[in-house]
Amino acid sequence: MDMTLGQKQRLFTTLVAQLIVKAGELGFELTFGDAYRDPRLHGPVGTKLGYGHAKSGHKNRLAVDFNLFKDGTFLQTSDDHQPLGEFWESLHPLCRWGGRFNDGNHYSIEHDGMK
Ligand SMILES: [Zn+2]
Repeated sequence: MDMTLGQKQRLFTTLVAQLIVKAGELGFELTFGDAYRDPRLHGPVGTKLGYGHAKSGHKNRLAVDFNLFKDGTFLQTSDDHQPLGEFWESLHPLCRWGGRFNDGNHYSIEHDGMK
């Protein structure tokens, strides 16, 4: 059954909670990077205004970037995110991890081909 955008947005938020809990269990700490990117600032879907991809899941409330820390050290590579990325991918068939496209801190749900 196809999910609506709203259903995906609500699922995404619930799954992010699970991701945050899992990060703690693995000994990581997180801070939020970008979550929602307001189209008034970033342009509507398909339009590039400012930084970020024109067709970004952030504009649909379906993506979040997390800053990853362990023992106070900021971990910045996709490899660092891999344990969390693979956990994220296991949560739902629509979950996408940016480590698959050189954007390791990006966690999203796919919608209309956008990740
Ligand atoms: Zn992102």
